[in-house]
Amino acid sequence: MIAVFGHLNPDTDAITAALVYAHLLSRQGKEAQAYRLGELNFETAYVLAQAGVEAPPLLGELPAGSEVALVDHNESAQSLPGLKTLTVTHVVDHHKLGDLETPQPAALRFEPVGCTATILMRLHREAGLSIDASDARLLLSAVLSDTLHFRSPTTTPADREAVAFLAQVAGVSDVTAYALAMFAAKSDLGDTPAERLLKMDYKVFAFAGHQWGLGVIETTNPGYVFGRQAELIAAMEAERAASGLDGVLLSVVDILNERNRMLVPAGSEGVVQGAYGAATAGQVADLGSRISRKKQLVPALEAYFAAHP
Ligand code: MN
Ligand code: MN
Repeated sequence: MIAVFGHLNPDTDAITAALVYAHLLSRQGKEAQAYRLGELNFETAYVLAQAGVEAPPLLGELPAGSEVALVDHNESAQSLPGLKTLTVTHVVDHHKLGDLETPQPAALRFEPVGCTATILMRLHREAGLSIDASDARLLLSAVLSDTLHFRSPTTTPADREAVAFLAQVAGVSDVTAYALAMFAAKSDLGDTPAERLLKMDYKVFAFAGHQWGLGVIETTNPGYVFGRQAELIAAMEAERAASGLDGVLLSVVDILNERNRMLVPAGSEGVVQGAYGAATAGQVADLGSRISRKKQLVPALEAYFAAHP
């Protein structure tokens, strides 16, 4: 049995890719089961409810040597603790290659596209398999989520083509309305504790020996998030201390206006200035239209720490 899962602090792509890839592997004669490595965010919960699909079960520890398939990630810091003791048999991902190691030859599929779902659609085509309406809705939702409905600079023509195709199969006639409903669900944060808000879309990266946590809150209602700025900064400082990180940054991305204002705890202003050329005032740095962690935020930090090791 291959356990299929996306990254920690799962987003819509991490959850739907696990479900659809496990289904695809099963149809290809491999026993596979989808799992998640954390709580669903509000957008993903909305997407699964719309599709009438249950969330995959939470994955606990696996015995050493267990076969696993990684989707939407490949770095051990973003995966199940103890990944290095497991046997990675498959990876489907659209992120930079990190510290992946496989004890046996593995089936690896990486493409520089906006979403794992776009690659999964291609895998179905290459296998000559149709995509059912439910899987199509899951994949459609993931592309809309990861690309912020084509607003993100990570968007490629392949992602646009995937949305056009999948919307038809899923029977979603008004894609714009559906995307807005997803983003509204994601932005309805209610009284979610600040620690949870920080971790909802959060990844740890190693830059030349420096460990940084980078959170993103994508929202149609940034005013709500900034209303909780003090709590969030406190949660970021607590997380940095608890996890022994060098820094924690949190991007508040205004989806509809494509603008990123980053929360910067005291002591990290110099790194933000050096990496992004952005001054911090009142613990907020305006990063303008740089809204993609993968394509803009992480590479700038990588370059900065390469020059300042
Ligand atoms: Mn993801
Ligand atoms: Mn993704």
